[in-house]
This record gives sequence, structure tokens and C-alpha cells, in this order.
Amino acid sequence: MKINIVIALLVLFVSCKGNSQNKEKATSTKTNDNKEFAVQKTNSEWKKELTDAEYYVLREAATENPFTSQLLKNKEKGTYVCAACSTPLFKSSTKFDSGTGWPSFYEEIEGNVAYDVDYKIGYKRTEEHCATCGGHLGHVFEDGPNPTGLRHCINGVALNFVPAE
Ligand SMILES: [Zn+2]
Repeated sequence: MKINIVIALLVLFVSCKGNSQNKEKATSTKTNDNKEFAVQKTNSEWKKELTDAEYYVLREAATENPFTSQLLKNKEKGTYVCAACSTPLFKSSTKFDSGTGWPSFYEEIEGNVAYDVDYKIGYKRTEEHCATCGGHLGHVFEDGPNPTGLRHCINGVALNFVPAE
């Protein structure tokens, strides 16, 4: 019995390490293919327009390394827009320091962010993406501050910052 558990854990560990990239690609491709977005481009078109890092996060649902985003410590007033299609996604007034290493917001700009459920790392998470182009942004968790109690954990590379006038 114990051996079975050990083997099961090993399999789980190996599959998380080994296949996570493939699974992410398969899931994101499937997700985006099934939906119609106002901005639709082929993968090769996106590849030309986006940097490598933007492409892997926005189009292949990769996750940037924590504490690497230049926007993480940004406290200026303004709007965070989609790095792919410039749709306004988050206001600076809803940004907070979550300590996770990713830019975090307690509220999205309503209607501009869409949601999906994924099980990529073994448990249910709510994935979020740009409602205009389908670009992957990050995940939303229910451990955020008031007034919403939500934590939108966003890849900084998926965002551009537009300072307020
Ligand atoms: Zn977009």
C-alpha cells in the first residue's frame, strides 16, 4: 500500500515537472480555438507582433518568473492595458502589493477580462484572459483584500502601463 502511494506521488511529481509545458500549450490552444474574440490573429501573426516573453505568456499561457516584472513596484496612477491589443484591463487604484512577486489587483475593469477554469497544476484555478484578444493574463484567487476579496495575479509581461494624464 505504501509503495503504491510513493509511486503515485512520483508519477504526479514527474508529470508536473515533465508535462506541464505541453499541457499548458494544449489547454490554451483548445481554449482559444473554441472562442470568438474581437481581435483574432494567427500564431505567426502574434509571433511577429509580440516579444518572445509576451508571446509565451499571452498566447501559450506560460507564467513569468516572480519578481521579474518592471510593473511589480509601479505605483503611478494610470491604466494597465493588454500588451497584445491595448484593451484597458486594470486601474492603478485597484493594484496592491500581494507579496507574490506578480502584479496584483483586487478588481478588473468590468467586461474587459474573461474567465476560464483550468486544472493545470492539479487543482482548480480560475484562469483569466483579455476579453478582446483572448490573451492569457494570469489567475484570480479568493484571498485578496477588500472590497472584493479577490486577488487577480497577473503576469506583468501581459500588461502595458498607460500613465494618467
Ligand atoms: Zn488583448
